[in-house]
Amino acid sequence: MRLTHPLGPGEWRVSQRFGENPAYYQPLGYAGHEGVDFACSVGTPVYAAHDGLAVHMPYSSGYGRYLRIENMEGQTTYAHLSAYTVKDNTFVRAGERVALSGATGTVTGPHLHFGVRPKPFRWNNGYKGFVDPEPYLEEIMSKLGVHYQGPPELGAESTELVRNSKIRYIKGIDPDNWHVPASEMFPSQRVIARLWIGGDGVEIDYLLRGAAGADAYHARLKSRYERVKAQGCWGILGPNEPHAWNQDELSQHAAFWKRWAALVGPMGLRPFILSAGVGWPDYPQVAAYKEAIVVAMGFGGGVELHEYGAPSVMDGDGHWTLRYRKFVQLLGLKPDIIIGECGIDGGVIPWEDAGWAGQRRRKGWLDWRDWDYPPQYGLGQGNMNEERYWRQLSAYDDELCKDDYVLAATPFVTCPNADWKTFDVPGSLIRRFVAKHAQVVAPQPVLPSTDPLTLAAIASGKVGQMQDKIRWWTEEGVRRLERGEDALAIFRDLVDRDKGLLYHAERRAKELGL
Ligand SMILES: [Zn+2]
Repeated sequence: MRLTHPLGPGEWRVSQRFGENPAYYQPLGYAGHEGVDFACSVGTPVYAAHDGLAVHMPYSSGYGRYLRIENMEGQTTYAHLSAYTVKDNTFVRAGERVALSGATGTVTGPHLHFGVRPKPFRWNNGYKGFVDPEPYLEEIMSKLGVHYQGPPELGAESTELVRNSKIRYIKGIDPDNWHVPASEMFPSQRVIARLWIGGDGVEIDYLLRGAAGADAYHARLKSRYERVKAQGCWGILGPNEPHAWNQDELSQHAAFWKRWAALVGPMGLRPFILSAGVGWPDYPQVAAYKEAIVVAMGFGGGVELHEYGAPSVMDGDGHWTLRYRKFVQLLGLKPDIIIGECGIDGGVIPWEDAGWAGQRRRKGWLDWRDWDYPPQYGLGQGNMNEERYWRQLSAYDDELCKDDYVLAATPFVTCPNADWKTFDVPGSLIRRFVAKHAQVVAPQPVLPSTDPLTLAAIASGKVGQMQDKIRWWTEEGVRRLERGEDALAIFRDLVDRDKGLLYHAERRAKELGL
C-alpha cells in the first residue's frame, strides 16, 4: 500500500515517531506510540492518504475528533481534528481534503496523529495491527542495513556515512562493548543486538532445555540486556543459527523461543526470534514456532532469518534466498522479518557433487574473485568484483522492497574478525547502500487509483445506498478480485445482497487466534 502524505509540504514536522514512549503506551495496550504525530497549527488541511471510504468515528477521549479511511488494502486514522470537511460514509480519493487538523482529545499541543493498518490486520504485532506509517509515505528504495561484527568507530568515514544516511537498521554483535552507546553512535537508526557468549555450541545447550533453558539463558544475560537497553538498542536476538534435528528438539526449541521472547519483551527490547541459518527452519517445522512468534510480535518483535546464495547472492532463489516468502506462507502470519545475515557463502554449495568436486572450497564473496561468472547469471562475463557483488545484493534488495513485512537485510559482515575476512563489507560497498537509500523518487501522481472496489463504487453511483452495508470489501471481495472477476460486478453483487456484508475481519482474526 502506497500512501500520499496527509499534510501539505512544509506544514508539519514529526513530533513523535512510531513505537516511541513505550512506558506511556503500554497501559493502553500498545508496545509504543501506534502512529506518527505531525505537529501542525490548528486548521491545517488534512488530505486522504489513499482512496477509500471515509468514516466519522465516535468522539474519543484519546483521539478526540477523528476520521478513518478504509479500503481493501488497509485503513488509516486521522486524529485530534478540529473539523471534518467530508460527510460521514463518503468515498474519497487520495489527495482529497477530508478534515482540518486540531488539538482535540489527549494532546500536549496541536498535531495530526496519523495511523496505518494494512490488511490483513496483524492483531498481535504489539500495536493491534498498526505499523510505522513513515515507510509508506516515502518510497523505500532499499532495505539494506549494516551488520557490525567488531565495534564501529565514531569518526571513521564509513560510520559517519551510515549515521548521516537513510539506512534504518543496524545489527551489532555485542554493542554493550562499543566505545560509544548505540543511541549516540547511530541516533537515527535502530540497533539490534546479538550477544555472544562463546560460540553456537554453548547456546544450543540452552535451547535443548526448552523453557527452563530460556530462563537460564536469560539469567546469564540479564545484566547485559539491561545494559544494551540503557544504551538505546532497539531489538534483541537470541542464540544464533540453532537447528532442530528431530521432533523432540523441535518442541524444546519452540518452548525456548516462546519463553525467551516473554522474558526480554517486557525489558523493552523487541525480540526477533529463531535467527535461523540459511535453509532453516525446515518447512515442516515452521508451524511449531507459531506460538513463539506470536509472543515475539506481541512485544513489537518478529523473526530473524539468514539467507545466503552461492556462487551468486540469488542462487537458490526461493529456497535459500527469498525463503522467507515460503516461511510466511507456511506460517499463515506475516511477522516483521529481519534478514540478519545475507550475501554470498560457499557453505551452501554441495562441494561433493559432480559439478563442484575438485574445486577449491570458497566462502565469502572475496573468495570468488578468481571465479568466472558464466553468461547464464546475466551479470556479464568475468570475475567477481565489488561492482558485481553490489549488483547482486541490489537485485536481492529490490525483491525485499516488495514485501512490507521485511524490515531490513544486513549483509554479513562489516568489521569482520579473521575467520570471516572473505565476507568483508567495506566502506566502499556501504557507500553504495547509502546512495541507493538516497535515490530521488519521481513525484507521485496526484490521484493514484489503488483500489478497484472503491473506484467501482464511485463509478456505479450507488454510493448513497451504502450507509451501514458499506463494509463490502470483505475477504470474499478480495478473493473474487484475485480470481480476476470484474470489480464493478463484485461491487453490485455485494451491495445488492439483502443481508449486507458487515466487516468481520476482526472477529475472524480472533477466531483464528491471530
Ligand atoms: Zn499520536
